[in-house]
Amino acid sequence: MAQLSLRGIKKRFKNTDVLHGIDLEIGDREFVVFVGPSGCGKSTLLRLIAGLDPISDGDFFLNGQKMNDVPPSRRGIAMVFQSYALYPHMDVYENMAFGARLMGLDKPEVEKRIAEAARMLRLEPLLQRKPRELSGGQRQRVAIGRALVRKPAVFLLDEPLSNLDAALRSDVRLEIARLHHDIGGTMIYVTHDQVEAMTLADKIVVMNAGRIEQVGSPRELYETP
Ligand code: ADP
Ligand code: ADP
Repeated sequence: MAQLSLRGIKKRFKNTDVLHGIDLEIGDREFVVFVGPSGCGKSTLLRLIAGLDPISDGDFFLNGQKMNDVPPSRRGIAMVFQSYALYPHMDVYENMAFGARLMGLDKPEVEKRIAEAARMLRLEPLLQRKPRELSGGQRQRVAIGRALVRKPAVFLLDEPLSNLDAALRSDVRLEIARLHHDIGGTMIYVTHDQVEAMTLADKIVVMNAGRIEQVGSPRELYETP
């Protein structure tokens, strides 16, 4: 279960205000997609939610608990990056095991979770391969698998398809939709792509210049009357 409340979230880098006060409620199991021009603060907001960067002002609550000072590893939130960020010297299995081991899970539990994730993402034949031996789509599935084995309540996905070609993009997009359906986590997803936003989102958040401009369902935002 994962309900998020963002209350007056601001972010300042040195003397530049990047987020000017973000207020948003995200419901349990909701799939929320952030859209908006490059540089408007989407990635920054995800990094604050993940705990990778400190919030300058405002509060972030997860299930009513204030998370501002909770370290990333204890938030129950996993992030998938555009660039995959896999460890090149580790094989697929080790890449997926790494974060799970850091959580202190024992070896049988790690193995069980990796087997589950590999099945869901069709990675079973690839477990012994190194990232360089994989296609872009396979790498991104490993990155998603690595997040999945932590069983997070919240998934953050920062333009996860933007490095893939068109055919792979629709494959991995379907994979993500299926994953959301199967595991029922709360998903927060950043994209430039209107098709992704329309097909994946329960709720679309339109950002511009560090502010939320509009919030609505795909129908409300994209269907002309
Ligand atoms: P988006 O994801 O919407 O493209 P970002 O969140 O990456 O936007 O960036 C928002 C703004 O914050 C940009 O102007 C960017 O240059 C600035 N920014 C991001 N990270 C830093 C940082 N570590 N230091 C200074 N400025 C940053
Ligand atoms: P050890 O604890 O002996 O170092 P690891 O669990 O780290 O063993 O696994 C070593 C390698 O064996 C991994 O890199 C992975 O390729 C492979 N491996 C281990 N367990 C499994 C598994 N359940 N399924 C597939 N491959 C596995």
